[in-house]
Amino acid sequence: MYRQAKYDEPLIFELGKKGRKAHIPPRCDFSRDKIKIPENMIRTTPPELPELHEGEVMRHYVRLSHMNYCIDVNTYPLGSCTMKYNPKINETLARSEKLMYMHPNQPVETAQGILEIIYELQVALANLAGLKYTTLQTPAGASGEYCGLALIKAYHEDNGDTQRDEIIAPDSSHGTNPASTVMNGMKLIEIKSREDGRVDMDALKAAVSDKTAGLMLTNPNTLGIFEDDIIEMSKIVKEAGGLLYYDGANFNAIVGKVRPGDMGYDVLHFNLHKTFGTPHGGGGPGSAAVCCNDLLEPYLPVPTIDYDKDKDYYFFNYDRPKSIGKLHGYHGNIAVALRAYAYIAALGFKGLVNTAEQAVLTANYAVRKLEKLDGFRIAGGKDIPRKHEGVLEATPFLRNYDVSGMDIAKMIISRGLHAPTVYFPLIAHEAWMVEPTENENKDRIDQYVDTVAEEMEKAKADPDYAHHAPTWTSVGRIDSGWSIRNLVVSYKILKDKREKGEYVP
Ligand SMILES: *Cc1c(COP(=O)(O)O)cnc(C)c1O
Repeated sequence: MYRQAKYDEPLIFELGKKGRKAHIPPRCDFSRDKIKIPENMIRTTPPELPELHEGEVMRHYVRLSHMNYCIDVNTYPLGSCTMKYNPKINETLARSEKLMYMHPNQPVETAQGILEIIYELQVALANLAGLKYTTLQTPAGASGEYCGLALIKAYHEDNGDTQRDEIIAPDSSHGTNPASTVMNGMKLIEIKSREDGRVDMDALKAAVSDKTAGLMLTNPNTLGIFEDDIIEMSKIVKEAGGLLYYDGANFNAIVGKVRPGDMGYDVLHFNLHKTFGTPHGGGGPGSAAVCCNDLLEPYLPVPTIDYDKDKDYYFFNYDRPKSIGKLHGYHGNIAVALRAYAYIAALGFKGLVNTAEQAVLTANYAVRKLEKLDGFRIAGGKDIPRKHEGVLEATPFLRNYDVSGMDIAKMIISRGLHAPTVYFPLIAHEAWMVEPTENENKDRIDQYVDTVAEEMEKAKADPDYAHHAPTWTSVGRIDSGWSIRNLVVSYKILKDKREKGEYVP
């Protein structure tokens, strides 16, 4: 599958020749003067489309698909992302023509089936959260956070507590937490984690005040450690008048085991595209469910999808005067919600609990095995069992052999494995964040760790090889600093740069 790194993989534009055709579109059966497009917006030259025959188009895209890495190809232990297998039955359901050709504007009477499914999913997720209400409008975890914090903000404003504009979050939190806080016009108060990776309670006590809007906590945290003091934390924040936000993006380790609502939390988001078996990566589409309790329910985005028991009728409820408004076109990424529904329905409660247990088992097995390799050490408390993931630090390896965690990650790509999440969370050094999920069996994890071990041996003998990895991929080591500063996404600009002989890594 992998070839020697090279930069000359042709773009589809480079493959064609003028006049070659794969498809002749049907003749236009309406006259142009019937459509009122402003004169200045009508193009005067035809678009430059690639011209090649069907066979070549097929080869091009199949070749590209072979260069793609996905969970259906091999192990994908990308920490904090829960790259689990997405059962194909989910796809079958989501692609059912009965659902696919529905339109969000069609009369509600004709959409009772899909609304019932969404309603049932809302209830199932609310039950897992231990909270009463759910919206499925937000299309990503970050968007769910934005929504949840907006509910908290609306609650305080409604109570005349406008000075409450501080969100407390530990320094191990996901990068989206501070971003969602700032996007909501609130201030982030970052608190330190202890040596063992858990929240420092003294730091929390010092951080709360009459300006506290709430605490935003990821649990299990990004080191894969469960916050044992969570009940006490809730008390401290509640006593200070703040609310509690649970980042449940990665719920894989605890689904069906504990419920954030029972821990005193007021609002949470789940990433359906992590825990609930829907595909993600490559930028989407995703879906987050935001669940909340009675305190925050009045502010939920419009419309909510509600059920009238007397009439046995599902409907969009816009009659919500305190709502924070609409956060997404129509009703969210329904096809993703459908996949999550299929996943939950297929597994049932026992199945979900079993998933959580298996996820914890594989994570601990993988992390303990990796920890024993010369050059790795575990981040956070050594003796604390991990939940869905664990973080290793390659600091000793860098010190002893001048080969970084990033280099080792690049090397295993050459071996046809996906790299872990590296250099996150920021509280760990040379971080390697590993989350195998429940889908990997012992043989696969052994194989993964053995491959890492072999590559580390190679790196010790030949650091230069490590610094230039990966070698057996379509694209070699990317100059990431350059790429961020000089992002080229236009084919024309790229071609122009290459023709001028400019540096394009
Ligand atoms: C993935 C993740 C998010 C963000 O989810 P997106 O869908 O990528 O926006 C937030 N918090 C945690 C803990 C996550 O792992």
